[in-house]
Parts: sequence; structure tokens; C-alpha cells
Amino acid sequence: MEHRMGFLTEEIEELKKRGIYSPTQTTLDTPQVPEAVVNGKKVVVMCSNNYLGLTVHPKLKEAALKATEEWGVGAGAVRPIIGTMRLHVELEERLAKFKGTESSLVFVAGIAANRGTIQALVPTAEDAVISDELNHASIIDGVRLTKARRFIYKHNDMDDLERCLKEAQGARRIMIITDGVFSMDGDIAPLPEIADLADKYGAFTMVDDAHASGVLGKNGSGTVSHYNLKGRWDIQMGTLSKGIGVLGGYIAGPKYLTDFLRYHARPFLFSTAHPPAVAAACTAAIDLLESEEGQKLIDRLWDNTRYFQGKLRELGFDLWKTQTPITPLIIGGDEKTAKFSRRLWEEGVMGTAIVYPTVPRGTERIRFIVTAAHTKEQLDFAIEKIEKVGREFAVI
Ligand code: PMP
Repeated sequence: MEHRMGFLTEEIEELKKRGIYSPTQTTLDTPQVPEAVVNGKKVVVMCSNNYLGLTVHPKLKEAALKATEEWGVGAGAVRPIIGTMRLHVELEERLAKFKGTESSLVFVAGIAANRGTIQALVPTAEDAVISDELNHASIIDGVRLTKARRFIYKHNDMDDLERCLKEAQGARRIMIITDGVFSMDGDIAPLPEIADLADKYGAFTMVDDAHASGVLGKNGSGTVSHYNLKGRWDIQMGTLSKGIGVLGGYIAGPKYLTDFLRYHARPFLFSTAHPPAVAAACTAAIDLLESEEGQKLIDRLWDNTRYFQGKLRELGFDLWKTQTPITPLIIGGDEKTAKFSRRLWEEGVMGTAIVYPTVPRGTERIRFIVTAAHTKEQLDFAIEKIEKVGREFAVI
């Protein structure tokens, strides 16, 4: 039967030619912790999104276990039919309070929140959507799902955004959307300037805070808080899958926004609700973020970030424009980047290669992410090995 889908083996051959194909999926044999066993080998993981180490936090585990005992393992229906449990509502209320918004709506994943929200808000050919060229794939998907006219502005370039806004004038609705923290480069979007332009040209604004949740702003509540923009920004999307340590995406904003989305966002309408354990663990994570312990974890995340990036810069590595724990090491070239990652792996450090189409060609990289859970010893070990492999590949 393979002959009917022989085109797939041809596609896989292409990946092999690029030097980026691996017959096995990288697989954790332990929980997601800084010193983990991956494919049977002990390594220091430097590429998870587990910013605060919450994937294994005792309070989150306890909440998940308790919810499972009391509520079972599944929700059994999509949210609007009969999948919404009290635990989901509690999480949404908790998130709105945390974000300082009137309301919030949780989706099963960040990708679902982005796709569903963009598609619902600017659905027709009379609408316009304006997106940063380096926005995440889930935003790109959302933009592709609408019939709206698309405008892509150069990364963080406010003159180019203004050009798009001028061209979009006359549209029924104009939506500007940006990553808060850019997932591959680690720089932060200039939200105040974007808000000014939105005012000037009658647009509304959405930010994707996947990599700012638990990282930036008061108690890790995101970029709008980081910039003190409350009241000047329309839609905040966040994830529960990275800094929060569990799974999910959400939209925070005015109640009329989430009311509208409950009826129009397709991934909300047509996908089964989170298991009770997920909702309960996320609520426990938000409680934790607002506690003294949470603040300590955020402080530690930033201490570790300064330490790790400072040492790499001292060694001569160019970390580009990062302003956050995301630490890009540009290698360039599919094969070279994949080999660099493999060598790190052999040395006991996990830093996955990120290649086209995830990043533009020529900027293939290893993206390290520092977490609060890393010890200084683990960071030193990683730095030593990155230096060794960096010299081998003449990156420094
Ligand atoms: N937005 C950004 C910027 C992301 O990095 C990611 C995760 N890769 C997502 C959205 C999707 O989030 P999730 O993993 O919860 O689907």
C-alpha cells in the first residue's frame, strides 16, 4: 500500500538530505526536570519551556491528584455542551483576577486560543489583520484561517506597522497581533508604541504572552503588566503550558470579548474540555505565582538567566537581541545546526536544533532556555560543554 503514499517517503528523503532527520523521536524517560534522562541518556535539559520548574511542583501535583480523585480523569464533552466543570470556571475566574481583566476564557492549548480567537474576530474579507513577521506559527495559522486581508510588518518595526495600518484603512475591523516575547529570539515587542499606533489608526490589539506568562510583569502576569499598559491593550493571550507548567491557552480581556468567543471560537466550541486535573493544577499554579514562593522562583529564573547569558557572552557567543531567558545561539545551516545539537547531546547537554521553517533560513540555531529549576552546577556544566562544542564548530 505504501505506493499510494510514496510521496511521503520522498519528503522524508528530503529531510535526510537536509541532515535534520532522526528516525526516533527525542523521548524523556523521566519527568521534565533539568537533569533528565532522554532516550536513555542522562543530560542537562537546556531547551524546555518549564520556566519555573512547575511541571513537578508538589502543590500542583497534589491539586491534580485531588481533582482526579474527586472529579475523575476526563471532562467528557466540549466546553459549551456539558464539558465545563466548576474547576474550569474557577480557573477562569482566577486567571482574570491574576491578569487584572474582567474575564478570561481557557482553551485546551495556546495554539487553539490563537487560532480560534483570530479567526473569530476578523473573519471576513472586509476585515484586516496585521501581524509581526516573526509571530508564532499558531498566530500564522489563525491568520490563514480568516478571509481578512493580511499585512505582515517587519519585526518590531513601527514604521512598517504604520505603513500597514495606512494600507488597511477602510477595513471593517483592523486587528494588530504580536508575540509579547518572541519565541525564537527572546526579544520583547514594543507594546506601548503599538498601542499608540492602534489608537491613531482605529485598530485593536492582541498579544501572545506564551513566553511571558510566569516570566514578565507583576507575578509573571505578562507583557501588558510589564509595560503598565492596563486599559490600553485589548486582548491578552497566555499559555498554561510553559511557565505555568501544565497545559492550555487562554484569552483575558473584557467580558464581552470572552462572551463573544464562547459562541464563535471554533476550538472552544468543538474540542473537549481539559481533564479536571489540568484545570486544578493550573489554578494551583496561579495561586503559587502570587505567593512569596512564586516571586522567589521568578527572581531565581532571572538570576539564572543573567548568569547563563553573561557567561556565554563572556566566552564570545553572540546571543542576538534576547531580553529574556530565551537564549538563541545562531549557528546557520540545517546540517551544521543539527550536528552542533548532536555533539552537545553526546556531551550531556540537551539543546535542540531549530531550523527552517520555524526560523528564517540562515538563522538556524540552538535555542537554550534557562529555568528557575537549574542549579548553578547544572548551568556551569552546560556552559562548559557549549564552550567546548562552540570551539569545535568555530562558533567562538
Ligand atoms: N504561542 C507561542 C509564542 C508559543 O511559543 C507557543 C508554544 N510553542 C504557542 C503559542 C502554543 O502554545 P501551546 O503549546 O500551549 O499550544
